[in-house]
Amino acid sequence: MITAVQKPFNEIFESVKEYGSLLVLGCGTCVTVCMAGGEKEVGILSSVLRLAHKNGGTAADITEDTIERQCDREFFDDVREKIEKADAVLSLACGVGVQYLSELFEGKRVIPGLDTKFYGTTLEQGVWSERCAGCGSCVLGKFGGICPVARCSKSLLNGPCGGSQDGKCEVDPADLDCGWQLIYDRMKLLGILERLEENEPIKDWSTGRDGGPGKIIREDMRL
Ligand code: SF4
Ligand code: SF4
Repeated sequence: MITAVQKPFNEIFESVKEYGSLLVLGCGTCVTVCMAGGEKEVGILSSVLRLAHKNGGTAADITEDTIERQCDREFFDDVREKIEKADAVLSLACGVGVQYLSELFEGKRVIPGLDTKFYGTTLEQGVWSERCAGCGSCVLGKFGGICPVARCSKSLLNGPCGGSQDGKCEVDPADLDCGWQLIYDRMKLLGILERLEENEPIKDWSTGRDGGPGKIIREDMRL
């Protein structure tokens, strides 16, 4: 899933306080799972915004709603009227949802309420960890199913670097596992350690962010 965290409240309030009517719009998928922008967070944030206006002697009509996904057109039908009526929308979706909402409702002010972080997984309640950097050309099959791009701090394809100590990464020796130690341990477990003796060629980074904005076209799926 895409992970995100809510921006500091003061930053959010500063960015929305000028609007007389504001729709706080949540997203029911990834950011609900990572407890940043789902229905519950929309409710809490809306209440605190109302309180902040009251305490500051200002007034604003704050409405709230949450749709299944803000990155898909079909889910906006139910909230179209609310969006059109509001002066601005505070979107609690990831950066994809915020931008797609802006594209669909041109001329509407859309303010992000979250900081989008990474593609990751839930390790335990309240702890999320990055697993993929969306490089566009997956090499997991060569590295025992552990991603050197996302899990090595330097995205080394021929690691480890000299900073790997006792299984930890020099970027945060107290808390961060060395991605290459994880790769080594997994490949040893799988009995394929000898594969690491092969030099991994330079990766074509143009398939990811370095190649500019990505696009997928599936001719077999087009109408
Ligand atoms: S190799 Fe690329 S696509 Fe595969 S998990 Fe890593 S970043 Fe994601
Ligand atoms: S210590 Fe390990 S994870 Fe950190 S940069 Fe070096 S090889 Fe990568």
